Amino acid sequence: MATKVLRCPTCRTLITEKSDDFPFCSDRCRRIDLGKWASGDYKITSPILDPDLLEDLEREQQRKYEN
Ligand SMILES: [Zn+2]
Repeated sequence: MATKVLRCPTCRTLITEKSDDFPFCSDRCRRIDLGKWASGDYKITSPILDPDLLEDLEREQQRKYEN
């Protein structure tokens, strides 16, 4: 089975889903991303994001609004 490759949402580094910090390349990037969500200025405008990743982000957003 092919390993899924994505880009870290924070720094665009290519990562695989086997990464310990998936979908981020590192714990540092995960924290940075969480900080963006918390401050409410996360913008889904990057054309670099994979469609799969966008779907995940949208799902995350919907979950937030539901809570
Ligand atoms: Zn990163």
